[in-house]
Amino acid sequence: MITVDEALAHLFDLANPIGTESVSLSKSAGRVLAKSAVATRNQPPFSASAMDGYAVLGPVVKGGQYTVKGEAAAGTSFKGSIQVDQAVRIFTGAPVPEGCDTVIIQEDITRFGDRFTVTGDHHGSNIRPAGGDFKIGQALTAPRSLSANDVALLASMNIPSVEVYRKPDVALISTGNELVMPGEEPGPDQIIASNTFGLKALLESHGAKVRILPIARDNIASLEQVFDLAADADLIVTIGGASVGDHDLVGKVAQQKGMQQSFYKIAMRPGKPLMAGRMGGAMMVGLPGNPVSAMVCGQVFLLPIIRAMLGLGKEKCQPLPAILVNAVGPNGPREHYMRAVVRNGQLTVFEKQDSSLLTVLADANALLIRPKNDAAQPIGAQIQYLPI
Ligand code: AMP
Ligand code: MG
Repeated sequence: MITVDEALAHLFDLANPIGTESVSLSKSAGRVLAKSAVATRNQPPFSASAMDGYAVLGPVVKGGQYTVKGEAAAGTSFKGSIQVDQAVRIFTGAPVPEGCDTVIIQEDITRFGDRFTVTGDHHGSNIRPAGGDFKIGQALTAPRSLSANDVALLASMNIPSVEVYRKPDVALISTGNELVMPGEEPGPDQIIASNTFGLKALLESHGAKVRILPIARDNIASLEQVFDLAADADLIVTIGGASVGDHDLVGKVAQQKGMQQSFYKIAMRPGKPLMAGRMGGAMMVGLPGNPVSAMVCGQVFLLPIIRAMLGLGKEKCQPLPAILVNAVGPNGPREHYMRAVVRNGQLTVFEKQDSSLLTVLADANALLIRPKNDAAQPIGAQIQYLPI
């Protein structure tokens, strides 16, 4: 059995950035920028007032007196010129008139008709210099996952559309005679297919486009049929049927369909019967069927694959440090990902760790990472975890 890191290295060999497409700015949030976006203008394009007040030529002294010659508002500049004892009424965002270098805020003056006296303690220029936010040629550099703040910046740069990585097309296949879709009436021996739904939510929240295919039954014809539906995907993920039971046919059928297997089985708990390979134009990952195993493998393996396909680099999920609140016994020869809760840097491991218990996963916000053959860890030990 290979280690988690070795499996990730094999997966990264199979996962490469996919194509790009142009999207309008209003659809770009959460997408990954594929081509750096370059500002085509300065912002602000002119020196602009930062306050409502009066534009003058400094220095400004208390008791100074001015005559108001005109007005500059946002979108309408003052066209004339002014002398040292003259001022222009100005509002936030308006271009600062020629010859002015200071805005006295309106709270610092007392006005009589078209004249005013400086009565407060004036500070600063209250002017935003031209290009003070960004200048022509300044770039938002690819690759970059676009946040709401990035979208605001791109809009300000006057960039109406951006080149982003296409969303990886992921096909999810549940396998098993016992499974029905949520909302269907299960027979007495049946359960609900939960993994595809959990994985869809996980992968979509990280930028993939996910299809849930019909459930494949535990026979060759059914598996072949569903694999055919997935042929045009970037990533085919099967769930279940990957162990060594009589009904575990995924590996066999995948190989009949041309899958070149990269590895099978990893030294990990939960998640041992993981497989991966290339299948025509797609990458294929076979996840174990136990619900928690499937979700944990989704976190540990599928998210880095999606990030790699989105051009965000080939990096494993970064663990964080925390302090252990309850002691844990020694670990065996497989890396163990234990459901836990982290609050204020303190990690509490749940007692129950069976890989069928989705309730425990739903209560967790962390996976404690136990290295293989890790010694027992006492209360207060510094440990590493993955936030989930
Ligand atoms: P398998 O790997 O097919 O032997 O499945 C292991 C366990 O996971 C069995 O108890 C299955 O019923 C269960 N299982 C497999 N696939 C799913 C699924 N999509 N949703 C929920 N449970 C599943
Ligand atoms: Mg099965």
